[in-house]
Amino acid sequence: MNDIKKLDTHLINQIAAGEVVDSPASILKELIENSIDAKSTIIKIHIYNGGKNKIIIKDNGIGIDSDNLDLAFERFATSKISTIDDLENISTLGFRGEALPSIASVSKFKISSIYKNQEGNELLIDTGKKKSVKPSNIVEGTEITVKDLFYKLPARKKFLKSDTYEYKKCLNVFKRYIISNPTINFTLSHNDKIVYNYKSTTLKSRIVQLLNLNSDKDLIKVSIEKDDVKIDGYICNLTLIKKRKDFQYTYINGRYIQNQLLSNTVYSCYRSLIERGEHPCYFLNITMNTKDFDINVHPKKLEIKFSNELKIQYILKQGVSKSLKRIDKVIPDFYQNDYSNNDLSIDLPFTNNNADDNNDINIEKKIDKIIDDNDNDNKISHDNKVWQIHNKYILTEIQSGLVIIDQHVAHERVLYEEALRALEGEGLDSQKILFPQTIKFDKEDYIYLLEILYYLKKIGFDIREFGDSSIIIEGVPMELTIGKEQEIINDILDNYIQNKKVSSSFIDYMAATYSCKAAIKAGEKLSNEECYELINQLFNTKHPYYCPHGRPIIINLSIDDLDKRFERK
Ligand code: ADP
Ligand code: MG
Repeated sequence: MNDIKKLDTHLINQIAAGEVVDSPASILKELIENSIDAKSTIIKIHIYNGGKNKIIIKDNGIGIDSDNLDLAFERFATSKISTIDDLENISTLGFRGEALPSIASVSKFKISSIYKNQEGNELLIDTGKKKSVKPSNIVEGTEITVKDLFYKLPARKKFLKSDTYEYKKCLNVFKRYIISNPTINFTLSHNDKIVYNYKSTTLKSRIVQLLNLNSDKDLIKVSIEKDDVKIDGYICNLTLIKKRKDFQYTYINGRYIQNQLLSNTVYSCYRSLIERGEHPCYFLNITMNTKDFDINVHPKKLEIKFSNELKIQYILKQGVSKSLKRIDKVIPDFYQNDYSNNDLSIDLPFTNNNADDNNDINIEKKIDKIIDDNDNDNKISHDNKVWQIHNKYILTEIQSGLVIIDQHVAHERVLYEEALRALEGEGLDSQKILFPQTIKFDKEDYIYLLEILYYLKKIGFDIREFGDSSIIIEGVPMELTIGKEQEIINDILDNYIQNKKVSSSFIDYMAATYSCKAAIKAGEKLSNEECYELINQLFNTKHPYYCPHGRPIIINLSIDDLDKRFERK
């Protein structure tokens, strides 16, 4: 057997670097964090060839004094914590003191820094070996250059991907920090071309810039505080739903984290509003006591352990759902009622308009009132003219312009919410059918059918077991056109067989399937009275703007929009 030897520091650093530094993006992460910890207000980043050739980062932070410059390259050397108690109270992004020595051990590394009124210094390190220290004429903060990553470690260099791929990874890292630090000025260039230039601003406008939006009207504020946990930030309305999960940012005390449980929780709040394969954008920061979670699980510090996961999940769900209820708030002009007084007995949405946009609290109160009060009298009056056009859309005039309602999806929303309530409560009424129908099932399917019989009855099907894997249907839900029963039952059964459990998503699916099949169709003629009734029912639902599949129900054309289109403005 070979002798057991202690590894030299140089080798230790190279091995350890594997944990912290595996790509240009991971280097960028550590360097940005150091600049932020140094209280910089300007951070400039230059990336060359996806960061494989060179990364330069300049900041205007507090800098490192000459005595400490050397020390920063010792492993576990940090200015950020010194005792075990500090570890429980970390307010900086870094604390392990591993990044600089790790990065410097796998690259050609140069750091210049100036501290207070001292002289600036420059230190050169080549794959962990100190080359030279000399005075530098740097005027503020710290500038770090990382060149030729892994050039002496061909085995690791081989794992780097294409420039484009590594560059994209760098951008993903960059975006996490511009969101959590909107007051810092950031620039980023790639191969000497400036790609991003973000000026100091608020979180909301940083998000607007990141998403390339024209305005912030599609962002909805989240703010909730409970038992020492505070969650704030922004979620998006349905116009910003994406096919990918690209814009989902969660932070704990300003530190970006990835946590499946939390992202599932946000998703669940949107579930009845979006389709499968669609994802909301969100930007949320959780502020909580550092004792109640542990980020020290991995050097990359992306994973997190909560001491009470369920509690965080619960508060997050409450916060997001509460804000989502106001999805209507971000539809332009719709609730432009008389916000200036506190009278809540309003005739929504067709009342006189005396908009006062600044009076946010009143708007919220009124919207809460509409949402919470399910059996109030938000009737539109017959003074509002109503037209059905092409037997498909309902058009009506409101003070600020006109609204167009898709009759099918409007009715679908009404029935969907009714069905959900019924499934939780008394159940829907059923109508007897003249000629009871028997349906025969495959033996295995029939077993599953029996498991959901209770729910089918609740939604209004009058069904009995009929022996030999078949059922007899004697009644169908009141609103359903007779003849569709078999199709609906099969759809619902198929969905159940896929998941084999009665979850909240199964209940949603049942309600959505029923409402889609039972709702009035495009092409059906409605009387004036029916149009009024439908609009009134729609405005008594929780989400009058989107159908259970996420399609819009209402389009609002304001007089302003019309004036613009006719070039009156
Ligand atoms: P950590 O961030 O975990 O403390 P690092 O290896 O990343 O460890 O950095 C070591 C030390 O170097 C930091 O604690 C800090 O004192 C100093 N440092 C690193 N980068 C900067 C910077 N951009 N500005 C000022 N000080 C810095
Ligand atoms: Mg650090």
